[in-house]
Amino acid sequence: MEDRIIIIGAGAAGLAASRLLTRSRHHVTLLEAKEHIGGRILSVDSTAGADSIELGAEFLHGKLPLTTALLSQAKISLVESGGEMFHENNQRRVEWDQLTKQWGELMRDMGRIKNDIPFRVFLDQYVAGGNHSSLYRSARGFAEGFDLADIRKTSTMAIRDEWQHEEDQQFRVKGGYGRLIHYLDKSSSRKYFTLVTDAPVKSVAWRKGEVKVFTSKDQAFFGNKLIVAIPPKPYSKILFKPAISVYRNAALSLGFGHALKIMLEFQRPFWQKTHPHAGFVFGNGDIPVWWTQLPSKTPLLTGWLGGPRSQKIKNRSIDGVTAVAIRSIAQIFNIRENSLRASLREIYFHDWSLDEFSMGSYSYPIVNVQSALKVLTEPVEKTIFFCGEHIYAGHWPGTVEAALNSGKAVAEKIKLRSV
Ligand SMILES: Cc1cc2nc3c(=O)[nH]c(=O)nc-3n(C[C@H](O)[C@H](O)[C@H](O)COP(=O)(O)OP(=O)(O)OC[C@H]3O[C@@H](n4cnc5c(N)ncnc54)[C@H](O)[C@@H]3O)c2cc1C
Repeated sequence: MEDRIIIIGAGAAGLAASRLLTRSRHHVTLLEAKEHIGGRILSVDSTAGADSIELGAEFLHGKLPLTTALLSQAKISLVESGGEMFHENNQRRVEWDQLTKQWGELMRDMGRIKNDIPFRVFLDQYVAGGNHSSLYRSARGFAEGFDLADIRKTSTMAIRDEWQHEEDQQFRVKGGYGRLIHYLDKSSSRKYFTLVTDAPVKSVAWRKGEVKVFTSKDQAFFGNKLIVAIPPKPYSKILFKPAISVYRNAALSLGFGHALKIMLEFQRPFWQKTHPHAGFVFGNGDIPVWWTQLPSKTPLLTGWLGGPRSQKIKNRSIDGVTAVAIRSIAQIFNIRENSLRASLREIYFHDWSLDEFSMGSYSYPIVNVQSALKVLTEPVEKTIFFCGEHIYAGHWPGTVEAALNSGKAVAEKIKLRSV
């Protein structure tokens, strides 16, 4: 009998799996809760001429192999992000230079540990001066702000591996990451592919070789295999009959971090007078990290607050977050808040933590992540499979690259089994 595969979730992982499966003549029905596809890739048009506004994924942290290969097939080019790093207080640059030297020693020590330990335990044991030292604060800040990790849980070995593979060059997708999503959709074989948006799955009844999937819009879909391609926390929202508790618990045990990203478009790039080469700017305000669109000079500033601190912003309405953002920028550039407000043209914000179909931003590796991944990379009764950026053990966790690889891996597993 021909496979009829249902996939839940049209993010990069679900779409990568659909594309490969339909191109090898498997019938796929892809169910997406939202009215648009792409999940945590969400590119929107700018009103002030920016190339694209990326509410979710924005950068390629190096020329990552699968993402770059797909972009090149799609004839979509990359733009290297440019500019220098600045600190709100110039004197901190001196501190930064000292830190760079100490960072090498830290990486060496991280490489010496034989048994994995939470990063906080590592920092407490290895960094002289403990949490009062600037190296401790900086390493903690990087793990929390960039990896979105809770340092009490995150794996020292895994983050070392990731930091080691961190490339100096960062790229953006010309015209926006959404173009890659569009390509994955359009290059799926139409004959075998049905995409249904606005279809939030609420329950799955299944037995070996048979699945019935029900949405909260009273639709039902039938197949003989299911791929769950949603982020880990929303697993809790889908009722499986019979329950698949071991898999659900494995997904829920994974580290899944929070970030707050806001983009403010101004009348003019006012920072160019004083900081013409600013790429990334680090401040001391509540939203501490900001970046420009260099090499493009569009008047857009993007603010980032990653990790557990992002959950401390209480008023998460667009007005509440904008107020915090304006205060942080005013402090960095020493400009009055009123004049910043007067030159504000547009605000772009999506709260991924409050979005019921993501419930956070991206995963980070916990100690002993391998045992949860071992569970999730094996199908349930050859019938229910799992993929998504969180089901990935390579060098670039939490990225689009991770999602694409995991979608590819699950499609290959199904293709092999049906040969
Ligand atoms: C703010 C932010 C910034 C980021 N920055 C970067 C970056 O610069 N570079 C980078 O590489 N990565 C970045 N990432 C991470 C990257 O976006 C993700 O790793 C990747 O897009 C995840 O793809 P996915 O397919 O695994 O999951 P998703 O994109 O989340 O796709 C899952 C899909 O499942 C759907 N879904 C969920 N529940 C249901 C249900 N019950 N029924 C039907 N559908 C459902 C969702 O709506 C979603 O469309 C960022 C993420 C965020 C949030």
